[in-house]
Amino acid sequence: MPLRTSWSQDNCPIARAADIFGDPWSLLVLREVFMGNKRFEGIKKALAVADNILSERLRRLIDAGVLVARPYSAGARPRNEYHLTAAGTDALPVLHAMVGWAQRHTESPSGKILRIICANCGSEADSGTGCRSCGTELTVETTVWEHPRTPGRLIELNGPG
Ligand SMILES: [Zn+2]
Repeated sequence: MPLRTSWSQDNCPIARAADIFGDPWSLLVLREVFMGNKRFEGIKKALAVADNILSERLRRLIDAGVLVARPYSAGARPRNEYHLTAAGTDALPVLHAMVGWAQRHTESPSGKILRIICANCGSEADSGTGCRSCGTELTVETTVWEHPRTPGRLIELNGPG
C-alpha cells in the first residue's frame, strides 16, 4: 500500500505539479540546488534534515526528472552532486511565484526579504518571470537573489550543467 496518494497520473496539471513540488522538503532541496548548494552534506546542513528524508526527496526529484545526480570524487569514495535538469531549471518561475505570494501575504520574522534581481540591469524584479525595467526574461542566467540568510550578498543561480 502506498504511503501517500500519487497525483502523477492525474488529468489536472496542478495535481501533477503538486505531486512533485507539493512537499516542503522537496521545494527546499530545489531552493538549495538553485542557490548552488549541490552536495548531500551541504544540503543536509542547510536544511537540518535527516539523512533518510533527504535521500528520499533527492530520489523523488530525480525520478520526476527535475534533478540529475552526477558523481564527483571526494577522497576515496565517489559521491554525487545534484544538478537541475532543463525541466528543473524551468521551475524557477514556480519558486518566484511563491516568493512573491509569501512576501505579500505572510510575515518574515526577521523582516528580511528575498530580493529577485535582474542581472542585466540590476533592477529588483517585482514579477517572477520578467524584468519590468529592461524586459529581460528572468532565468537562472539572468537572475540573482539576495536571500534573507545572507543579506547584502548577491547569489548567482545554478542551472543545468
Ligand atoms: Zn532588467
